[in-house]
Amino acid sequence: MPPIDAYAVFGSPIKHSKSPVIHSMFAEQTGQQMQYDKQDVPAEQFKAAISQFFAQGGRGVNCTVPLKELAFQRADTLTPRAQKSKAVNTLAMQSDGLLLGDNTDGVGLVTDLKNNNVTLSGKKVLILGAGGASRGILLPLQAENVTSITIANRTVNKAERLADEFKASGSTSGCGFNDLNDQQFNIILNATSASLSGDLPPLPPHLLANDGVCYDLAYGNEDTPFVTWGYQQNAQKSLDGLGMLVEQAAAAFFIWRGVQPDTAPVITALKS
Ligand code: NDP
Repeated sequence: MPPIDAYAVFGSPIKHSKSPVIHSMFAEQTGQQMQYDKQDVPAEQFKAAISQFFAQGGRGVNCTVPLKELAFQRADTLTPRAQKSKAVNTLAMQSDGLLLGDNTDGVGLVTDLKNNNVTLSGKKVLILGAGGASRGILLPLQAENVTSITIANRTVNKAERLADEFKASGSTSGCGFNDLNDQQFNIILNATSASLSGDLPPLPPHLLANDGVCYDLAYGNEDTPFVTWGYQQNAQKSLDGLGMLVEQAAAAFFIWRGVQPDTAPVITALKS
């Protein structure tokens, strides 16, 4: 019998990753013979861990904090969206022996927003945070014909630099949280890691337009501080990033296996 196709998620810390559960549900649902493990890989061990995994016949790796930029550097060939975001969350060994790097975070977010009936076209979008996740979601959001994207960050020049990199593909500007007074947005996305430590970026009142939507890329067993803030602002919807996590995994699964899993039952199972 041929060896089973091996996949893994690398990152550090990795103990609480839901990716193995998600991919095993996808595999069972679609009848794919594969195994998917998690491996604690700090940045300094990334090169060696990748070489070893693929030398042993591994087929694909997901990369999470703090490895997405290293994975971008390691990939032999990149999809346009990975090239632009300078961050890779999915590595796939191709039949020619080259390692393909892609970034499925943005498509995961956009798909989850659409699943939740959130319209992006013609909307003013605010992204809080200018780290790796913001980089990954900018191009897919611009592709949905949003009116404008404002990036606000604690370290202001990071937001300004990021906006400069993406302004050729759509109206994009960068600023600090203090510059948000008197502005209003239809959709506010929290791509800071503040929720992970129970914090909320300092946000002025009246930031969310009537019928606006809030979305925290972070997720947890309870509402995150930003999801709670969204409800307090009378958001039409205030969502967390669990759906995005499942959708970005589904996009990676498709790259590896050529099969599109049904995400809805997996999201429901994880929520319960
Ligand atoms: P990074 O470390 O690359 O960036 C973190 C960002 O958060 C920076 O902009 C940083 O600002 C800001 N920040 C951190 N703490 C605070 C705070 N207390 N107040 C205000 N701003 C703060 O992280 P990532 O971009 O990789 O991840 C961001 C979030 O997105 C995480 O919660 C992560 O779990 C989530 N995520 C979810 C995914 C999903 O599938 N649902 C996929 C990818 C990410 P500064 O530059 O000033 O330091």
